[in-house]
Parts: sequence; structure tokens; C-alpha cells
Amino acid sequence: MAATRTSGDLRLAGLTKEFDTFTAVHPMDLVIPEGSFFALLGPSGCGKTTTLRMVAGLEQPTAGRIHIGDTEITDTKAHQRNVNTVFQSYALFPHMNVLENVEFGLRRRGDKNATVKAKEALELVQLGEVAKKKPAQLSGGMQQRVALARAVVNRPDVLLLDEPLGALDLKLRRQMQIELKRIQQEVGLTFIHVTHDQEEAMTMADTIAVMNAGRIEQLGDPATLYEHPASTFVANFLGQSNLLKVTVTGPARNGEVPVTAYDTALTVAADHVPGDAKEVWLGVRPEKLRMGEHGGPNRLHGTVSDVSFTGVATQYLVRMPWGKELTVVQQNDGSGRARPGEDVTISWAAEHGFALDAAQAADAG
Ligand code: ATP
Repeated sequence: MAATRTSGDLRLAGLTKEFDTFTAVHPMDLVIPEGSFFALLGPSGCGKTTTLRMVAGLEQPTAGRIHIGDTEITDTKAHQRNVNTVFQSYALFPHMNVLENVEFGLRRRGDKNATVKAKEALELVQLGEVAKKKPAQLSGGMQQRVALARAVVNRPDVLLLDEPLGALDLKLRRQMQIELKRIQQEVGLTFIHVTHDQEEAMTMADTIAVMNAGRIEQLGDPATLYEHPASTFVANFLGQSNLLKVTVTGPARNGEVPVTAYDTALTVAADHVPGDAKEVWLGVRPEKLRMGEHGGPNRLHGTVSDVSFTGVATQYLVRMPWGKELTVVQQNDGSGRARPGEDVTISWAAEHGFALDAAQAADAG
């Protein structure tokens, strides 16, 4: 039976998965707008794939409901959902050529325009030239694009991507990330991408759900998650961050809250400080720290303990008088580099600091 075409936002309501006594996905409420590129991001074992498999119909939820638009699909069989999945393994038919692979599903459903649609899908992934080749004659990246063409050719309501770029080398992976984003924008379908690679999620997705131990820890667009993480887990998972435990010393003035760290007066943007917090963790991304004297109240003095040249940037470790090392990343603009052992001043603008509630950030270190 052909899949019923529905469309609209994907809605998960209280979606839960338990394996015996272990809860892989705690009750999850989530709305993924139609046509968006959504990423489920998190470390191995956090429940990303289980969530995806429930949407695909490959895993029966313990509780909760799944809707696409007004249609409930919780109990709809996998092959009757208009949902396709692209896996890390391409799973192409080796005896069929590229075009036959892409048109196979449509043909089986008796679609008279199968060949035309398959050719269009191959053009979309820029593989029109290799339609007559067998999968084994193509590179891994090309095979993955064939798998993608096959997955979008019947215009599913939702396309699920389970670590689809995991088998590609880094350079190809970066190219494919841009390519996937372009394809998603062109076809306008809802893409849900599962990955543990924060850079990959941030490059491609409009919205990211960061998962930790079966729960969504934070949901937002990439810049908000990166610049205003709501927990140390998100702060650390989305890149490096310097965290300082600071004490609030007074009420907000001119949009900034005065704080102290190790007897040094600093400030944090008021809208980043939770409620009536007395102690918070102040976080600053390494590339937001500047070396050298700059105006403004946020200045710390330390000694360079390590210098690593990374090409476009240089990474410094700067040891504070109280022993903690801060990481500073500076673009290489030809202005010379500090050396190990050098005493330096590091500074940052208040709005570049984010604050995390000290109570929930006990493990910040
Ligand atoms: P990875 O990136 O490693 O695939 P993930 O975030 O996708 O990780 P899941 O595969 O969803 O995580 O697994 C979440 C948890 O559920 C893990 O602890 C896993 O061991 C457990 N789990 C998954 N499938 C089963 C199963 N069929 N039976 C028992 N436990 C399972």
C-alpha cells in the first residue's frame, strides 16, 4: 500500500522509550516546523537514534504520540509513513545502476513518472552524469548522494538522517554538509539530522536540540546555543568555554551585574544572570577573549603557559594567579604572538560572557 501523503509540522507529545527498566528517551515534547532543518545533537547513548527510530516507525514508543500536521502516525506501520531515512551505510542495490536505484521505490508503487522524477532527483544532487553507472563505480561521497536522491525522490513529509556523513573523510564531510544544506533548502522538506558532531549540527541546522541522557537539555538556533548555553553540558558540548565561579556583588546597573572572581571585579550582562543568583558561573568562549590592554571592566592578568599555532588562529593557555588556565584563541592577523612565560592581560566585553546558575553547574570545574 502506498504511503499516505500528509504534511505539516512534526509534533512529538510525551514521546517516551523504555527498554526494560532503562529509560532511553524520557517524555519528550517537541515541535519541528515543516520545512526546517532540525538537528538532534548529543553524545553517544543520549537517545538520538531511538528518537529517530520512533519517528520512522522502527521502534514502538512506550508512551506518547507522534503527529505530522493533523495526522497521528504513532501506530502507523513504518512503510505506511511518508517518512524516509538515510543511514551511514548507503544500502544501495549493487546490481542496479544509479538511476534504477533512485526510481526503484516509485516504480514499485506504479508511479508512471518514476524515471523523470528520478532524473530530477539526480540533478538535484549533481549526479545526472553518472545515472548509468553501478554504485561500486562511485566514490563513497557519490554513493551517499545517490542514497539522498533516493530518499527525497518521493518527497517524504520528513527525511531522517542518521549520522549520514559518518563514513566520509573530514574534507568530504565538510563539503557534504554544505551540499546537504543546499539540497534541503531546494526541496523544502523537513530534515531531521542526528549527529554527535557539534560543528556539523551548527553548520547545517536551523534549530538544534541538544540531548543528554534521554532528555532535551536545550533547544535553539545554533548561535543562541553557542553564545547563551543554558547549562555547562551545552556550553562544553558546543565548543570550548572558560568558566569562572563568580559572586554577585550588587544589583544590575546599566544592564550589567557586578561580580567578583578571586578578588577581581568583573561584570556580566544582566540578562544573562539568572534571577536572584548569588553565585554564578561566568563563561566566555576562547575567541571572545582578547589579549592585551583594552578598555572596559573585564580584565584578568596571567602568564602564557602554552602557545599552539593552528593555521588561521593561535590558541593560548593563560595561567591565572589562582592556578586555573584559561584558553584564548586569536586570529592570526600578523600582529605577532605572545610567547610562553610572558605576562599578559586578557579582556572581554560584558555581553560576550554568559552566566550559568552555580547550583546546576556544580560540575563546571
Ligand atoms: P549513538 O550515537 O551511539 O547511536 P544515541 O544517542 O543515538 O547514541 P541510542 O542509540 O538512541 O543513543 O541509545 C540510547 C540508549 O538506549 C543507549 O544507552 C542504548 O544502549 C540504549 N538502547 C538502544 N536500543 C536498545 C535496545 N534495543 N535495547 C536496550 N537498550 C537499548
